[in-house]
Amino acid sequence: MKVEKPSVCPLDCPDTCSLAVTVSAGEVIAVKGSKANPITHGAICAKVAHSYPEFVHGPNRLRYPLRRVGSKGEGRFERISWPSALELVRERVGEVIKRHGPQAVVPFNYAGPHGMLAGDSMSLRFFHRLGASRLSRTPLCGGIRSTAYAATFGATPGTPLQQVSLAKLIIVWGNNATACNLHLVRQINQAKRAGAKLVVIDPRRVRIAEQAQLHVPLRPGTDVVLAFALAVELERLGALDQAFISRHVVGFEPYMSAARAFPPARAAQICGVEEGDIRTLARWYQESSPAVIAWGNGLERNRNGGSGLRAIAALPALAGKFGVEGGGLMGGAGHAFPKTLERLTLPELAPAGTRTINILDVSRMILDSEVDPPIRALFVYNHNPLIVHPNQNLMRRALAREDVFVVGIEVAMTDTMAYADVVLPASTHFEHADLYPAYGQQYLQRAEPVIAPVAESLPNTEIFRRLAAAFGFTEPALSATDPELMDAALDPKDPRLQGIRPSALPTDRALKMEYAGAEPVLFKTVWPRTPSGKIELWSADLDARFGMPLPAYRRLVSSYPLTLITPSSERRITSTFGGLPASDGTPLLEMHPEDAAVRGLADGARVRVWNEQGEVFLLLQITGAVRPGVVCTEKGAWMRTSSNGQTVSALAPAHKADLAEGACFNDARVEVSSL
Ligand code: SF4
Repeated sequence: MKVEKPSVCPLDCPDTCSLAVTVSAGEVIAVKGSKANPITHGAICAKVAHSYPEFVHGPNRLRYPLRRVGSKGEGRFERISWPSALELVRERVGEVIKRHGPQAVVPFNYAGPHGMLAGDSMSLRFFHRLGASRLSRTPLCGGIRSTAYAATFGATPGTPLQQVSLAKLIIVWGNNATACNLHLVRQINQAKRAGAKLVVIDPRRVRIAEQAQLHVPLRPGTDVVLAFALAVELERLGALDQAFISRHVVGFEPYMSAARAFPPARAAQICGVEEGDIRTLARWYQESSPAVIAWGNGLERNRNGGSGLRAIAALPALAGKFGVEGGGLMGGAGHAFPKTLERLTLPELAPAGTRTINILDVSRMILDSEVDPPIRALFVYNHNPLIVHPNQNLMRRALAREDVFVVGIEVAMTDTMAYADVVLPASTHFEHADLYPAYGQQYLQRAEPVIAPVAESLPNTEIFRRLAAAFGFTEPALSATDPELMDAALDPKDPRLQGIRPSALPTDRALKMEYAGAEPVLFKTVWPRTPSGKIELWSADLDARFGMPLPAYRRLVSSYPLTLITPSSERRITSTFGGLPASDGTPLLEMHPEDAAVRGLADGARVRVWNEQGEVFLLLQITGAVRPGVVCTEKGAWMRTSSNGQTVSALAPAHKADLAEGACFNDARVEVSSL
C-alpha cells in the first residue's frame, strides 16, 4: 500500500522545500513538492525528484559498518558488526590520543544534510568532550558571505524571499537562481508580471539572465569594482539618501572615498562591461522602489569575495532602499530563527585553549611535519572533501597517509569514503526526525522519519551517542534524545515559536518567522544588530580580524590566461547525488568562440584543462554564454566522471579570500588545449 508522508528537503540549498514522500513497503518510491511550506509551494527541483529514491535505496547506499581491507583509496572493505566497528574506532583513536593528545583528532564535516540534528548536534558534544581540535567549517563556502553580511548589518534578517515579488527592480547578483535558488525564480516571475525590471550580474549568461532586461557579464572577482562604480554614479545622479545615511550609516565618507577611485569608465575597463550599462543600472536603481538585491554564493569565491559583498550591501543603504517591503537585500535568512547553538552543541565541554582549524587547512596540516600536535585521526561526516575542497591532489595525499586513521560516517560510498579505515553507515534524513531552519527563506520546518533506517544505518545523533558510550562518556548530555536535542536547538520561549516546543512543531505546515506579527523589514520591523546599531560600511570588527575595515579591490596576476568558474550543477547539490547514473558522464567545459578559435578547438572535442596544480579532461562546448577569457564547468562531479583521477577541484587554488579566510574556487586560472 502506498502512503504519502510529509518531509523536508535537507540539502545544501537555500530553498529548503517541503516534500511529499510516497512510501511503499518501507521504501521511498517517489518524492515531490508539498504546499506545507507556502514559499516553496509544491515545486521542487528535478534533481531531488529524480534522484532521491535511488540515493536512499540504490546500490551505492551504505548499509552496514565496514572495515577497510584494501589500500587507501582502493575502496575494498569487509562488513563488520556495530560493536566491532565502535571498538575499533575507540581503540585506534585512543592510541592517537595517547600518543599525540586529543587535539590530534579532527572532526572533518561540512553541510551534507542541513537538519540541525544531523548537521552538528550530538557530534559536537562528543568532540568537545573528547577534547578534539575544533573546526571552522564555513570558510569552505558561505562563511565569506555571512561574515560580510553580519559585519554590515549584524545578526538580523534581511528581505524575506516572499517579498521579492513586490519589488519593482530585482538585481540577481552572482546567483545561478534556476539551478540553486529555484523559488526565487517564482518570485521574480510574479514581480515581472507586475511590471518589475530584472537585472542579472554574472560572468555567465545563466538561465535567469535570459529573462533579464539587462545582463552585466562582469569578469569574475570584480564585483567590488562594479558596486563601487554604482555608488559613484548614484552620487553623481544625486540619488544618495543623505538623511538616511546620516542617521543610520557608519563609514559613509571612507566608503565613498574608496569607491571614487572607480568611476564608471574605469570600472567598465576593469570589469569588462559597458560603461553605459553601469550608468543605466544606477539610474534604474535610483528610480525604482522597492528595489531588491538577491545575491548568491558565486561572487564570494574569489580573493575579493568579502569586499564584493560588502560593497554591494552598501548600495541599498546609500540609495535609501530599506524600510519598505520588497526592498533592500535578500540575505541573512539564518538570523530569522531563534537558534541556540551553544545549548545544542555545548562548547563548554571542550578544554580551554582547544585549537580551531580552518577546514581549508586540514590537508596541508596533515602533511606538514611541523604541525604540533599533528593531525592523526579524522572523523569525516556530512562531507566529501576529496571532491569539494580546493587543491584536490593535496587532499588525496593527505587522506592516503597510512598513519592518519579515518572514520567515515556517510550515507553513500563516496570517493572520500574509499580512504576511510572504518565506515559507519548513516541514515538519510528520511529515516530520522529533524528541524530545518532555512538559509534562503524564513519558514521553520520539522520532519519525522518517513521510513525506518535502511539496514543497519543509524542517524548521526545515534552514531555519536554510541561513540560517546564507547569512549566511556557518561554525562547525560552525551545521551540526550533527539527530542531533547531539538528543544535545545531553538529557544522555546522565543515568540517566533508561538509557544510551540521545537520538538512538537507540526510537520504538516511551516512556521513563518515573524516579529510582533510582522515580516522582517529592515528599519521598519527589525534593526541592525551591529555594535553601533547602524549599518557599518566601515567595520572595526573586520579591521581587527582581517585588516579589512573597508572593501578593496586586489588584482590577481597569473601566467594562465583563462579564468575557470565552477557554478552549481542542475544534476547535483555540490557533490550530493554524485555516483548516481544521472550524475555520471564527462562534464562539459563552456568556452567562448573567440577563445576556442585562438586555440583551434572544435565543439565537442575532449580537452585538457590544466594549471600548476593538476589537469582535468572535459568535453568542450563552444558557447556565447560565457564571456571571452572565462571558461566554466560544473562543480561536484565524482571521480567516476574522470579518466585520470582528477576532477575540477584539482585546479582550484589554495589561497584565501579577503574575509573569513574563505575558499577562492573562482580564482582558478587555467589553460586549455586539445588532447
Ligand atoms: S535541492 Fe533545493 S530546490 Fe531542490 S528540493 Fe531541495 S530545497 Fe528544493
